[in-house]
Amino acid sequence: MYRLIWVLLLLCAVSSVQAQGYTLVIKGGTVIDPKNNIDAVMDVAVTDGKIVRVAKDIDARGALQTVDARGLLVVPGLIDLHTHVFFGTDPARAYDGGSASVPPDVFAPRTGVTTVVDAGCSGWKDFPAFKREVIEVSRTRVLAFLNIVGGGMRSPYEQDLHEMDGKMAGITARQNKDIIVGIKVAHYSGPEWTPVDEALKAGRMANIPVMIDFGGNNPPLSIKELFFDHLRPGDIFTHCFGQLSSREFVVDTLTHTVKPFVREAQQKGIVFDVGYGEISFAFSQAIPAVKSGFLPNSISTDMHIRSMNLAMRDLPNCMSKFLAMGMDLHDVIQAVTWNPAKEIKHEELGSLGGGYRAPGSREREIRSLRLYRLQDRRDAAFRLRDDGPGREDPFRSQRDCEANGVTQADAG
Ligand SMILES: [Zn+2]
Repeated sequence: MYRLIWVLLLLCAVSSVQAQGYTLVIKGGTVIDPKNNIDAVMDVAVTDGKIVRVAKDIDARGALQTVDARGLLVVPGLIDLHTHVFFGTDPARAYDGGSASVPPDVFAPRTGVTTVVDAGCSGWKDFPAFKREVIEVSRTRVLAFLNIVGGGMRSPYEQDLHEMDGKMAGITARQNKDIIVGIKVAHYSGPEWTPVDEALKAGRMANIPVMIDFGGNNPPLSIKELFFDHLRPGDIFTHCFGQLSSREFVVDTLTHTVKPFVREAQQKGIVFDVGYGEISFAFSQAIPAVKSGFLPNSISTDMHIRSMNLAMRDLPNCMSKFLAMGMDLHDVIQAVTWNPAKEIKHEELGSLGGGYRAPGSREREIRSLRLYRLQDRRDAAFRLRDDGPGREDPFRSQRDCEANGVTQADAG
Protein backbone atom coordinates (compact mmCIF):
# COMPACT_ATOMS: atom_id res chain seq x y z
CA MET A 1 0.00 0.00 0.00
CA TYR A 2 1.39 3.34 -0.96
CA ARG A 3 0.86 6.79 0.36
CA LEU A 4 1.83 10.09 -1.16
CA ILE A 5 3.58 12.25 1.38
CA TRP A 6 3.80 15.96 0.82
CA VAL A 7 7.33 16.99 1.63
CA LEU A 8 8.22 20.36 0.19
CA LEU A 9 6.39 23.46 -0.88
CA LEU A 10 8.12 25.89 -3.14
CA LEU A 11 6.82 29.37 -2.64
CA CYS A 12 6.00 31.51 -5.62
CA ALA A 13 7.91 34.43 -4.14
CA VAL A 14 11.27 33.65 -5.66
CA SER A 15 12.71 37.10 -5.72
CA SER A 16 16.05 38.15 -7.12
CA VAL A 17 17.44 36.92 -10.38
CA GLN A 18 20.94 36.48 -11.60
CA ALA A 19 21.17 37.18 -15.27
CA GLN A 20 23.89 34.58 -15.74
CA GLY A 21 22.31 31.79 -13.63
CA TYR A 22 19.08 30.23 -12.50
CA THR A 23 17.29 31.30 -9.35
CA LEU A 24 16.68 27.68 -8.43
CA VAL A 25 17.62 24.28 -9.78
CA ILE A 26 15.83 21.14 -8.54
CA LYS A 27 18.20 18.25 -9.08
CA GLY A 28 17.56 14.57 -9.55
CA GLY A 29 13.83 14.27 -8.88
CA THR A 30 11.55 11.97 -10.82
CA VAL A 31 9.59 14.35 -13.02
CA ILE A 32 6.10 13.18 -13.93
CA ASP A 33 4.43 15.53 -16.38
CA PRO A 34 1.73 13.60 -18.23
CA LYS A 35 0.92 16.34 -20.72
CA ASN A 36 4.49 16.36 -21.98
CA ASN A 37 4.86 12.60 -21.66
CA ILE A 38 7.72 12.89 -19.16
CA ASP A 39 8.31 10.21 -16.55
CA ALA A 40 12.02 10.26 -15.81
CA VAL A 41 14.74 11.53 -13.50
CA MET A 42 15.36 15.08 -14.63
CA ASP A 43 16.31 18.52 -13.35
CA VAL A 44 14.09 21.58 -13.29
CA ALA A 45 15.43 25.13 -13.56
CA VAL A 46 13.61 28.19 -12.38
CA THR A 47 14.35 31.82 -13.09
CA ASP A 48 12.44 34.79 -11.80
CA GLY A 49 9.58 32.65 -10.56
CA LYS A 50 9.19 30.77 -13.84
CA ILE A 51 10.03 27.25 -14.84
CA VAL A 52 12.41 27.80 -17.70
CA ARG A 53 13.89 24.38 -18.32
CA VAL A 54 13.23 20.70 -17.65
CA ALA A 55 16.16 18.53 -18.75
CA LYS A 56 18.71 15.98 -17.67
CA ASP A 57 21.80 17.30 -15.88
CA ILE A 58 21.13 21.04 -15.86
CA ASP A 59 24.25 22.95 -14.87
CA ALA A 60 23.44 24.42 -11.46
CA ARG A 61 26.61 26.51 -11.14
CA GLY A 62 25.60 30.10 -10.51
CA ALA A 63 22.14 29.18 -9.27
CA LEU A 64 21.04 31.00 -6.14
CA GLN A 65 19.63 27.79 -4.69
CA THR A 66 19.87 24.10 -5.46
CA VAL A 67 17.43 21.51 -4.11
CA ASP A 68 18.39 17.85 -3.91
CA ALA A 69 15.18 16.08 -5.02
CA ARG A 70 16.54 12.56 -5.30
CA GLY A 71 13.85 10.11 -4.24
CA LEU A 72 11.11 12.68 -4.69
CA LEU A 73 8.47 13.19 -7.31
CA VAL A 74 8.36 16.50 -9.14
CA VAL A 75 4.91 17.08 -10.59
CA PRO A 76 2.86 20.01 -11.85
CA GLY A 77 0.79 21.87 -9.27
CA LEU A 78 -2.31 19.86 -8.50
CA ILE A 79 -5.75 20.95 -9.66
CA ASP A 80 -8.64 20.08 -7.36
CA LEU A 81 -11.69 20.11 -9.62
CA HIS A 82 -14.34 19.90 -6.89
CA THR A 83 -14.03 22.08 -3.78
CA HIS A 84 -16.18 24.44 -1.70
CA VAL A 85 -14.28 27.60 -0.84
CA PHE A 86 -16.88 30.40 -0.55
CA PHE A 87 -16.42 30.50 3.22
CA GLY A 88 -18.09 32.66 5.84
CA THR A 89 -19.36 32.45 9.39
CA ASP A 90 -23.13 32.11 8.96
CA PRO A 91 -24.28 28.47 9.23
CA ALA A 92 -27.54 29.38 7.48
CA ARG A 93 -25.65 30.30 4.33
CA ALA A 94 -24.13 26.77 4.19
CA TYR A 95 -21.70 26.60 1.22
CA ASP A 96 -22.71 29.99 -0.15
CA GLY A 97 -20.61 32.32 1.97
CA GLY A 98 -21.31 30.16 5.01
CA SER A 99 -19.52 27.93 7.48
CA ALA A 100 -19.73 24.70 5.45
CA SER A 101 -17.07 25.99 3.05
CA VAL A 102 -13.33 26.25 3.69
CA PRO A 103 -10.86 29.05 2.88
CA PRO A 104 -8.69 27.78 0.01
CA ASP A 105 -5.40 28.97 1.50
CA VAL A 106 -6.07 26.83 4.58
CA PHE A 107 -5.72 23.51 2.75
CA ALA A 108 -4.42 24.01 -0.78
CA PRO A 109 -0.78 25.19 -0.54
CA ARG A 110 0.26 22.62 2.07
CA THR A 111 -1.12 19.77 -0.01
CA GLY A 112 0.46 20.74 -3.31
CA VAL A 113 -2.77 22.09 -4.76
CA THR A 114 -2.21 25.29 -6.73
CA THR A 115 -5.64 25.56 -8.37
CA VAL A 116 -8.99 24.88 -6.73
CA VAL A 117 -12.23 24.89 -8.65
CA ASP A 118 -15.21 25.86 -6.54
CA ALA A 119 -18.09 23.53 -7.37
CA GLY A 120 -21.10 25.79 -7.38
CA CYS A 121 -21.11 27.56 -4.02
CA SER A 122 -22.35 30.75 -5.65
CA GLY A 123 -25.01 31.44 -8.25
CA TRP A 124 -25.32 34.41 -10.57
CA LYS A 125 -26.84 36.58 -7.82
CA ASP A 126 -23.96 36.30 -5.38
CA PHE A 127 -21.00 35.49 -7.60
CA PRO A 128 -19.79 39.12 -7.26
CA ALA A 129 -19.49 38.67 -3.48
CA PHE A 130 -17.62 35.38 -3.93
CA LYS A 131 -15.25 37.04 -6.37
CA ARG A 132 -14.63 40.02 -4.12
CA GLU A 133 -14.36 38.17 -0.79
CA VAL A 134 -12.52 34.98 -1.78
CA ILE A 135 -11.28 34.74 -5.35
CA GLU A 136 -9.52 38.07 -5.51
CA VAL A 137 -7.88 37.83 -2.07
CA SER A 138 -6.70 34.20 -2.04
CA ARG A 139 -3.13 33.22 -2.83
CA THR A 140 -4.44 29.95 -4.21
CA ARG A 141 -5.77 30.22 -7.76
CA VAL A 142 -9.57 29.93 -7.51
CA LEU A 143 -11.77 29.12 -10.51
CA ALA A 144 -15.47 28.38 -10.30
CA PHE A 145 -18.42 26.39 -11.49
CA LEU A 146 -21.41 28.73 -11.22
CA ASN A 147 -24.44 27.17 -9.56
CA ILE A 148 -27.50 27.08 -11.78
CA VAL A 149 -29.38 28.17 -8.65
CA GLY A 150 -29.20 31.98 -8.64
CA GLY A 151 -29.15 32.18 -4.85
CA GLY A 152 -26.33 29.66 -4.53
CA MET A 153 -25.78 26.39 -2.68
CA ARG A 154 -28.13 26.72 0.30
CA SER A 155 -31.71 26.23 1.41
CA PRO A 156 -34.35 27.01 0.34
CA TYR A 157 -33.07 28.21 -3.03
CA GLU A 158 -31.69 24.81 -4.15
CA GLN A 159 -35.20 23.34 -4.29
CA ASP A 160 -36.80 26.30 -6.11
CA LEU A 161 -37.04 25.81 -9.88
CA HIS A 162 -37.69 29.55 -10.29
CA GLU A 163 -34.10 30.11 -9.08
CA MET A 164 -32.73 28.15 -12.05
CA ASP A 165 -32.28 30.63 -14.84
CA GLY A 166 -29.96 29.38 -17.58
CA LYS A 167 -29.90 32.71 -19.36
CA MET A 168 -28.76 34.73 -16.34
CA ALA A 169 -26.20 32.06 -15.44
CA GLY A 170 -24.91 32.08 -19.01
CA ILE A 171 -24.61 35.87 -19.08
CA THR A 172 -22.72 35.87 -15.77
CA ALA A 173 -20.40 33.14 -17.01
CA ARG A 174 -19.65 35.07 -20.21
CA GLN A 175 -18.95 38.21 -18.20
CA ASN A 176 -16.46 36.32 -16.01
CA LYS A 177 -14.97 33.85 -18.46
CA ASP A 178 -11.50 34.14 -16.92
CA ILE A 179 -12.89 32.65 -13.67
CA ILE A 180 -16.12 30.75 -14.37
CA VAL A 181 -15.20 27.45 -16.03
CA GLY A 182 -18.51 25.62 -15.85
CA ILE A 183 -22.06 25.42 -14.52
CA LYS A 184 -23.02 23.27 -11.51
CA VAL A 185 -26.14 21.27 -10.77
CA ALA A 186 -26.49 19.87 -7.23
CA HIS A 187 -28.79 18.68 -4.50
CA TYR A 188 -32.16 19.08 -6.24
CA SER A 189 -34.71 16.60 -4.90
CA GLY A 190 -37.57 16.82 -7.41
CA PRO A 191 -38.21 14.51 -10.36
CA GLU A 192 -37.68 17.18 -13.02
CA TRP A 193 -34.80 17.58 -15.44
CA THR A 194 -35.12 21.38 -15.27
CA PRO A 195 -31.87 22.00 -13.31
CA VAL A 196 -29.86 19.92 -15.80
CA ASP A 197 -31.40 21.51 -18.86
CA GLU A 198 -31.13 25.08 -17.56
CA ALA A 199 -27.47 24.41 -16.74
CA LEU A 200 -26.92 23.11 -20.26
CA LYS A 201 -28.53 26.26 -21.66
CA ALA A 202 -26.00 28.34 -19.72
CA GLY A 203 -23.17 25.99 -20.72
CA ARG A 204 -23.98 26.38 -24.40
CA MET A 205 -24.17 30.17 -24.07
CA ALA A 206 -20.74 30.38 -22.45
CA ASN A 207 -19.17 27.37 -24.21
CA ILE A 208 -18.29 25.72 -20.91
CA PRO A 209 -19.07 22.30 -19.40
CA VAL A 210 -21.69 21.49 -16.80
CA MET A 211 -20.91 19.46 -13.69
CA ILE A 212 -23.70 17.22 -12.43
CA ASP A 213 -24.05 16.19 -8.79
CA PHE A 214 -27.27 14.24 -8.66
CA GLY A 215 -28.74 14.98 -5.27
CA GLY A 216 -31.66 13.08 -3.86
CA ASN A 217 -33.97 13.04 -6.83
CA ASN A 218 -37.12 11.16 -5.94
CA PRO A 219 -37.31 8.84 -7.78
CA PRO A 220 -33.59 8.82 -8.75
CA LEU A 221 -33.04 10.05 -12.28
CA SER A 222 -31.61 7.69 -14.86
CA ILE A 223 -27.89 8.25 -15.42
CA LYS A 224 -28.19 6.53 -18.81
CA GLU A 225 -30.72 9.16 -19.82
CA LEU A 226 -28.45 11.85 -18.38
CA PHE A 227 -25.39 10.66 -20.34
CA PHE A 228 -27.07 10.02 -23.66
CA ASP A 229 -30.11 12.32 -23.84
CA HIS A 230 -28.85 15.41 -22.02
CA LEU A 231 -25.08 15.80 -21.55
CA ARG A 232 -22.57 16.74 -24.21
CA PRO A 233 -19.02 15.35 -24.56
CA GLY A 234 -16.95 17.22 -21.99
CA ASP A 235 -19.73 17.52 -19.45
CA ILE A 236 -18.82 16.18 -16.01
CA PHE A 237 -20.47 13.59 -13.77
CA THR A 238 -19.07 14.11 -10.27
CA HIS A 239 -19.37 11.81 -7.23
CA CYS A 240 -18.96 9.07 -9.81
CA PHE A 241 -18.15 6.39 -7.21
CA GLY A 242 -20.90 7.30 -4.77
CA GLN A 243 -23.30 4.63 -3.57
CA LEU A 244 -26.28 6.39 -2.05
CA SER A 245 -29.80 4.98 -2.31
CA SER A 246 -31.03 8.25 -3.79
CA ARG A 247 -28.81 7.89 -6.86
CA GLU A 248 -28.13 5.35 -9.57
CA PHE A 249 -24.66 3.77 -9.34
CA VAL A 250 -22.08 3.26 -12.09
CA VAL A 251 -21.20 -0.23 -10.77
CA ASP A 252 -23.94 -2.86 -10.63
CA THR A 253 -23.95 -3.99 -6.99
CA LEU A 254 -25.18 -7.47 -7.89
CA THR A 255 -22.56 -8.30 -10.50
CA HIS A 256 -19.87 -5.91 -9.21
CA THR A 257 -19.19 -4.77 -12.75
CA VAL A 258 -19.30 -1.38 -14.40
CA LYS A 259 -22.53 -0.97 -16.33
CA PRO A 260 -21.74 -1.26 -20.05
CA PHE A 261 -23.48 2.01 -20.91
CA VAL A 262 -21.25 3.80 -18.39
CA ARG A 263 -18.15 2.71 -20.30
CA GLU A 264 -19.83 3.82 -23.52
CA ALA A 265 -20.59 7.20 -21.97
CA GLN A 266 -16.93 7.70 -21.02
CA GLN A 267 -15.89 6.75 -24.54
CA LYS A 268 -18.41 9.27 -25.86
CA GLY A 269 -16.62 11.95 -23.81
CA ILE A 270 -18.59 12.17 -20.58
CA VAL A 271 -16.11 13.06 -17.83
CA PHE A 272 -16.16 10.97 -14.64
CA ASP A 273 -14.93 12.93 -11.63
CA VAL A 274 -14.42 11.48 -8.14
CA GLY A 275 -15.65 14.35 -5.90
CA TYR A 276 -14.88 12.22 -2.84
CA GLY A 277 -16.71 14.28 -0.21
CA GLU A 278 -18.33 13.18 3.00
CA ILE A 279 -20.58 10.33 1.84
CA SER A 280 -20.10 10.45 -1.92
CA PHE A 281 -17.38 7.82 -2.33
CA ALA A 282 -17.59 4.07 -1.75
CA PHE A 283 -14.80 1.56 -2.22
CA SER A 284 -17.53 -0.89 -3.21
CA GLN A 285 -17.97 1.20 -6.37
CA ALA A 286 -14.39 2.32 -6.94
CA ILE A 287 -12.53 -0.97 -6.47
CA PRO A 288 -14.41 -3.01 -9.11
CA ALA A 289 -14.22 -0.04 -11.46
CA VAL A 290 -10.48 0.50 -11.12
CA LYS A 291 -9.71 -3.24 -11.19
CA SER A 292 -11.59 -3.56 -14.47
CA GLY A 293 -9.86 -0.58 -16.06
CA PHE A 294 -12.63 1.98 -15.66
CA LEU A 295 -10.59 4.91 -14.32
CA PRO A 296 -11.87 8.30 -13.23
CA ASN A 297 -10.96 11.12 -15.59
CA SER A 298 -10.22 13.33 -12.60
CA ILE A 299 -9.65 12.76 -8.89
CA SER A 300 -11.04 15.55 -6.72
CA THR A 301 -11.89 16.04 -3.08
CA ASP A 302 -15.27 17.75 -2.71
CA MET A 303 -13.46 19.64 0.04
CA HIS A 304 -15.68 21.14 2.73
CA ILE A 305 -15.65 21.46 6.51
CA ARG A 306 -16.92 17.92 7.12
CA SER A 307 -15.19 15.94 4.38
CA MET A 308 -11.78 17.34 5.29
CA ASN A 309 -12.15 15.93 8.80
CA LEU A 310 -13.31 12.49 7.69
CA ALA A 311 -11.81 9.85 5.43
CA MET A 312 -11.38 12.21 2.48
CA ARG A 313 -8.97 14.58 4.30
CA ASP A 314 -7.13 16.07 1.31
CA LEU A 315 -6.21 15.50 -2.33
CA PRO A 316 -2.95 13.56 -1.78
CA ASN A 317 -4.88 11.23 0.53
CA CYS A 318 -7.45 10.62 -2.22
CA MET A 319 -4.62 9.99 -4.68
CA SER A 320 -3.13 7.46 -2.24
CA LYS A 321 -6.39 5.54 -2.20
CA PHE A 322 -6.38 5.18 -5.98
CA LEU A 323 -2.76 4.03 -5.87
CA ALA A 324 -3.77 1.47 -3.26
CA MET A 325 -6.57 0.24 -5.53
CA GLY A 326 -4.03 -0.41 -8.26
CA MET A 327 -4.26 2.70 -10.41
CA ASP A 328 -0.95 3.50 -12.06
CA LEU A 329 1.02 6.41 -10.57
CA HIS A 330 1.24 8.14 -13.94
CA ASP A 331 -2.55 7.89 -14.35
CA VAL A 332 -3.13 9.21 -10.83
CA ILE A 333 -0.92 12.25 -11.47
CA GLN A 334 -2.65 12.84 -14.80
CA ALA A 335 -6.04 12.77 -13.05
CA VAL A 336 -5.03 15.71 -10.83
CA THR A 337 -3.06 17.75 -13.36
CA TRP A 338 -3.48 17.58 -17.11
CA ASN A 339 -6.91 15.94 -17.21
CA PRO A 340 -8.67 18.53 -15.03
CA ALA A 341 -6.85 21.31 -16.89
CA LYS A 342 -8.42 20.05 -20.12
CA GLU A 343 -11.81 19.53 -18.49
CA ILE A 344 -12.03 23.21 -17.51
CA LYS A 345 -10.42 24.37 -20.78
CA HIS A 346 -7.45 25.95 -18.98
CA GLU A 347 -4.67 24.18 -20.80
CA GLU A 348 -2.09 26.65 -19.53
CA LEU A 349 -2.39 24.75 -16.21
CA GLY A 350 -1.60 21.17 -15.26
CA SER A 351 1.85 20.76 -16.79
CA LEU A 352 5.42 21.92 -16.38
CA GLY A 353 5.29 23.68 -19.72
CA GLY A 354 7.34 23.16 -22.81
CA GLY A 355 10.57 24.66 -21.53
CA TYR A 356 12.23 21.27 -21.46
CA ARG A 357 12.65 21.42 -25.21
CA ALA A 358 13.97 24.94 -25.55
CA PRO A 359 14.84 26.83 -22.39
CA GLY A 360 12.43 29.68 -21.86
CA SER A 361 10.22 28.75 -24.77
CA ARG A 362 7.05 28.45 -22.67
CA GLU A 363 7.42 29.65 -19.14
CA ARG A 364 5.30 28.69 -16.18
CA GLU A 365 4.96 30.23 -12.77
CA ILE A 366 7.03 28.62 -10.05
CA ARG A 367 3.88 27.95 -8.06
CA SER A 368 3.07 25.27 -10.60
CA LEU A 369 5.81 23.09 -9.14
CA ARG A 370 5.56 20.64 -6.25
CA LEU A 371 7.66 17.80 -4.88
CA TYR A 372 6.37 14.56 -3.37
CA ARG A 373 7.88 11.50 -1.79
CA LEU A 374 6.22 8.21 -2.60
CA GLN A 375 6.49 6.01 0.46
CA ASP A 376 5.76 2.38 0.88
CA ARG A 377 3.71 2.32 4.08
CA ARG A 378 2.97 -1.39 4.31
CA ASP A 379 4.58 -1.61 7.75
CA ALA A 380 2.95 1.51 9.13
CA ALA A 381 -0.36 1.86 10.91
CA PHE A 382 -1.90 3.34 7.80
CA ARG A 383 -5.41 2.51 6.80
CA LEU A 384 -7.80 3.58 4.10
CA ARG A 385 -11.50 3.82 4.59
CA ASP A 386 -14.54 5.62 3.28
CA ASP A 387 -17.37 7.18 5.25
CA GLY A 388 -21.09 6.86 5.16
CA PRO A 389 -23.84 4.44 5.95
CA GLY A 390 -24.34 0.93 4.66
CA ARG A 391 -20.98 0.40 3.02
CA GLU A 392 -19.71 -3.07 2.33
CA ASP A 393 -16.06 -2.74 1.49
CA PRO A 394 -12.72 -4.18 2.53
CA PHE A 395 -11.66 -1.13 4.49
CA ARG A 396 -14.96 -0.60 6.28
CA SER A 397 -13.86 -1.55 9.78
CA GLN A 398 -10.46 0.00 9.69
CA ARG A 399 -9.55 3.19 11.36
CA ASP A 400 -7.80 6.07 9.67
CA CYS A 401 -4.97 7.16 11.93
CA GLU A 402 -2.39 8.90 9.80
CA ALA A 403 -2.90 12.59 9.41
CA ASN A 404 0.38 14.34 10.06
CA GLY A 405 0.35 13.06 13.61
CA VAL A 406 -3.32 13.75 14.30
CA THR A 407 -5.62 10.81 14.94
CA GLN A 408 -8.99 11.04 13.27
CA ALA A 409 -12.04 9.49 14.91
CA ASP A 410 -14.01 7.08 12.76
CA ALA A 411 -17.34 8.76 12.13
CA GLY A 412 -18.65 6.03 9.86
ZN1 LIG B 1 -19.54 19.30 -3.63
